[in-house]
Amino acid sequence: MSVSVDVRNLSITFGAGPTAVKVLPDVSFSVKPGECFGLVGESGSGKSTVLRCLSMLTDFWQGDILLDGQSVRQLPLIARCRMLQMVFQDPYGSLHPRQSVRTVLHEPLAIHGLDDREARMRRALTDVGLPVSFLDRFPHQLSGGQRQRIAIARALILEPSLLLLDEPTSALDVSVQAEILNLLQRLREERGFTYLLVTHDLAVVDHMCDRFAVMQRGEVTEILPREAIADNHASHPYARELIAAS
Ligand code: ADP
Ligand code: MG
Repeated sequence: MSVSVDVRNLSITFGAGPTAVKVLPDVSFSVKPGECFGLVGESGSGKSTVLRCLSMLTDFWQGDILLDGQSVRQLPLIARCRMLQMVFQDPYGSLHPRQSVRTVLHEPLAIHGLDDREARMRRALTDVGLPVSFLDRFPHQLSGGQRQRIAIARALILEPSLLLLDEPTSALDVSVQAEILNLLQRLREERGFTYLLVTHDLAVVDHMCDRFAVMQRGEVTEILPREAIADNHASHPYARELIAAS
């Protein structure tokens, strides 16, 4: 259950006329099925924009994005949701305060017309290490780490092959960060997901990723294996600087 990702000459401009900003001039990279691929770079370098283009949350980009060789533009919404899901940085913002965990998990199952909903919801909670009694909780009754577990359960419930993870642990304190990273690691080992993981933290890349792309001002400056962090064999000066500072 994994999928390859090919991003070719992805570019996007926000705004028009004299105020237009080309946020991604020309981004290309490929992720192998089952790989955990990191996107790192300072704030504003375009990491989240890449994920938003991939998930079609933003759709006015140019270039090609292929999932298993199929253009994301050609994938119907329903098929796209079954193939890729996204987890966001802020577990507070990504859950509605007045929706119970049951509502959050039930909604995608209902939209996609899946049966055995109760069993699927229970399994999703078990998968993220929470008791099934949490189905009746609301976001304010959960800790930050628990909320992020619910966001991950919501992403898992349609059994996608690709998870787009946008700084999934940046809003959490350090011990909870490690728990969530370990959870993501275990899920990948068990299910063979492909991960595209955005982070500004090279320690997270070192913990999770097989390879990573270093982004600077909307461009991929270099693609490196995880080992490059320990021995800093990056050739681009910015990538070297970023690794040296970590
Ligand atoms: P990162 O995730 O690496 O911090 P983002 O992808 O969020 O960076 O943003 C990259 C750049 O694109 C930033 O300069 C940001 O201000 C700009 N940007 C992102 N979304 C929009 C938008 N909808 N309109 C205009 N500029 C945007
Ligand atoms: Mg971002």
